[in-house]
Amino acid sequence: MSNLTPMMQQYLNIHEQVPDAILFFRLGDFYEMFFDDAITASKALDIVLTGKDCGLDERAPMCGVPYHAADNYVAKLVEKGYKVAICEQISDPKESKGIVDREIIRIITSGTVTEGKNIKENDNNYLMSVYYNKLEYGVVYSDISTGETSAVYLSGDRADADFYDLLSKIMPAEILVNTTLYQTPSVKSQSELISKISFTPLSSKYFNLDDCIQQITRQLRIYSLNASGLEKNEPQIKACGALFRYLEETQKNSLAHINKVNVVHGNQYMHLDFSTKRNLEITETMRSQEKKGSLLWVLDQTVTAVGARTLKHWLNEPLIDLSAIKSRHDTLSELTGDIMLTEDMMSILKQTADIQRLCSKISYMTVNGKDLLALKETLFLIPKIKLILKDCRSEILEDIYNSLNDLSELSELIGSAINVDCGVAVKDGNLIANGFHPQVDELKNLRDNARSVLAELEKKEKEKSGIKNLKIKYNKVFGYYIEVSNSNIGMVPDYFIRKQTLVNAERYYTQELKEIENKLLNANEELIDLEYRLFAEIVEKTAERIPDLQKNAQLIGTLDVLCSLGYVSYKNRYTRPYLNTKGILHITGGKHPVIEQMIGSENFIPNDTLLDMEQNRMSIITGPNMAGKSTYIRQVAIISLMCQIGCFVPCEEADLCIVDRIFTRVGASDDLASGQSTFMVEMSEVSNILKYATKNSIVILDEVGRGTSTLDGLSIAWAVAEFLHDNERIGCKTLFATHYHELTELENGNGIVNYSIDVKQSADGILFLHKIKRGSCDKSYGIDVAKLAGLPNPVIERAEELLQLLEENESNTNKKRTPKPRVSPSRQNNTENLLNFKALTAADEIKNLPINDMTPIEVMNFIAKIKSDLGE
Ligand code: ADP
Ligand code: MG
Repeated sequence: MSNLTPMMQQYLNIHEQVPDAILFFRLGDFYEMFFDDAITASKALDIVLTGKDCGLDERAPMCGVPYHAADNYVAKLVEKGYKVAICEQISDPKESKGIVDREIIRIITSGTVTEGKNIKENDNNYLMSVYYNKLEYGVVYSDISTGETSAVYLSGDRADADFYDLLSKIMPAEILVNTTLYQTPSVKSQSELISKISFTPLSSKYFNLDDCIQQITRQLRIYSLNASGLEKNEPQIKACGALFRYLEETQKNSLAHINKVNVVHGNQYMHLDFSTKRNLEITETMRSQEKKGSLLWVLDQTVTAVGARTLKHWLNEPLIDLSAIKSRHDTLSELTGDIMLTEDMMSILKQTADIQRLCSKISYMTVNGKDLLALKETLFLIPKIKLILKDCRSEILEDIYNSLNDLSELSELIGSAINVDCGVAVKDGNLIANGFHPQVDELKNLRDNARSVLAELEKKEKEKSGIKNLKIKYNKVFGYYIEVSNSNIGMVPDYFIRKQTLVNAERYYTQELKEIENKLLNANEELIDLEYRLFAEIVEKTAERIPDLQKNAQLIGTLDVLCSLGYVSYKNRYTRPYLNTKGILHITGGKHPVIEQMIGSENFIPNDTLLDMEQNRMSIITGPNMAGKSTYIRQVAIISLMCQIGCFVPCEEADLCIVDRIFTRVGASDDLASGQSTFMVEMSEVSNILKYATKNSIVILDEVGRGTSTLDGLSIAWAVAEFLHDNERIGCKTLFATHYHELTELENGNGIVNYSIDVKQSADGILFLHKIKRGSCDKSYGIDVAKLAGLPNPVIERAEELLQLLEENESNTNKKRTPKPRVSPSRQNNTENLLNFKALTAADEIKNLPINDMTPIEVMNFIAKIKSDLGE
């Protein structure tokens, strides 16, 4: 190693600081990578691998990218999960002796990217930090590209489940954890499964309490943690301190836009767990994970990026405070009542820039002139926004009116300072507007008017000296000079200094000409330099207003979401719900907002719903496949959710109570999307419901029990329904869609009510009416649906024949097929049914028997087993 060239030695020394990153090593106009980094990067980026003499016997593998195109390459590597460290030359190569000093100026990871295609305009990109000690979780997550930072504390026996739900809500791009979490396999593997990314463990020094407190006070520029909301919570302090330290180490920047931690309390929002979010298709569809077909797709008419991100937050965090919900509804009443105003507002908001992301660029000093101009334009729009809001009376709009700050001083500064025709590069000049700074004007004048400045001087010297043929000339070797022919030498004034003697002329310079020359030659360089310095000063002044700018951004986001919800409510004729505290949920003419949009409003059959705390706690809904059961039960949950984000709801009339949690569980075979959904998952989720549902929860059960054999499934479904109904603590509102007609026996006049969805049978088959009515459904119409689906006729006929046989069989034995309420479905009551089922199972098993691979004993054992399965 001792033979290494000095530069390679420097490279290796620097790389030691970031062993797990790919080092982008600045060499002139390129970032070069060497050794293993070069091999990895050339593959990942599809660029040529070459070699460089490094002083060793073999050349070092090398590849490189031009510095001006580096962003794209960095983004690509980060997207593939690599960390990239950017190492710059920090001394001027012209001035340094030996090798140039170099330093890492930033480390980019998937959670700390701020630009490029990893950052989606309408999505947040979160870095999360977790401190875990087997009893509690402190969790802090931050979007570096917007500055939004939140803290959550989880404890108690729900902590693990809540943590998984939080992960599924935030979906961070990078997760830092302490070693305890890293070494707890159950939590680690489950969370990595949900978040789809692997964790980065941080050593215990990141979580030292005192250091963490210091780190936080420094970042937030506060004297102590008092009143920060974090003060009493050690796990949160540790998670937050570790996150800030990691940022400091990787970003090497004070990140002025991260100046607040929003502490979220467990009971602040409606709790939506992972499977509920997925099943209700709130922000993406279950099957294809697309926005189209989700609730977000229906509600999103936002016109700004910050609005689009805010709407996602609202959907993930429905309110549970009645007056806060009412306040949003008041605003929507006002906006839907004056749709012209709403549309005017939207057309203005549409012109605003993404202030949140600009703030991040400002604190990284990566803004350019165009960004500042966009910021200024947005600030100019604020008076227009306020003008529209001037007569609004709802609390939220009044508050937005009062809180929006047009920062006129700042926008005027930017307006007067920045050249409207500036380019995107900040080190090429052309940044500062005319008239902003005398020296800039002078330098520009010099540069642009070199010829006339010299002509002016020439004229002046001619007049002063009386030498008529005096000329100012230029050549590369001598620069500028005054040339006087020999005949006029006698008239040369004494302040002319001789420079060169020719045969028939003398060449001179003057102090003034020297100055002009210097100015001219340096003007451009000086100009670019000065413009950049002035620009940096303006950015610094802008940075001082980051908190105000962020506040504006947040207000614009809120306004945009409210306009979007108002606009959609108006266009789709949604209704303002009444809110009650009696636990009543009464919907007349309710619709599923997404299906309504998919099939056209006029084709959707509206349905009523009544759930309360007394006689109508649980609805059991039967009906054939495709009748609309799943649609119906989801629409009730979605209407509640829409109400609680502050939106109006798709129905004629609604009187709703506040729901603290929505649970949904969908039977395994209805749940194709996840692929990994097994009966086990289904049951563990049901058990979650039974553990955590309260009187104020809504539980949606769709075909629960379907993932196992008929009798098992029915028994489980039955027991779950009974438990939800009987348990005093729970007593939640339940909608249970099932194909087990047996469950309708549970109707008891004391909380459980049967409903079914109508179909009409005609000669051509069945017609789905999609209309819910009281009472149970008499049969399952499975064969009719199969016919509709185009099953071949012989199969349909044979199925009908078999069904008839089975039914006759059943009535001959004269035994009731379904169990009585409160008695579990016992095997004695279902002997024939059971036998049929067992016979089919046995036949199946025999069919699949690998006879050739079995010994005679094994075959005998198998037959014995079948015999005992079939019973006596
Ligand atoms: P089930 O769960 O009973 O099998 P789904 O709820 O999945 O039935 O509904 C099947 C299809 O019927 C839906 O995709 C939708 O197109 C249509 N549908 C459901 N409810 C309605 C309704 N109220 N009005 C019109 N069409 C409906
Ligand atoms: Mg269904």
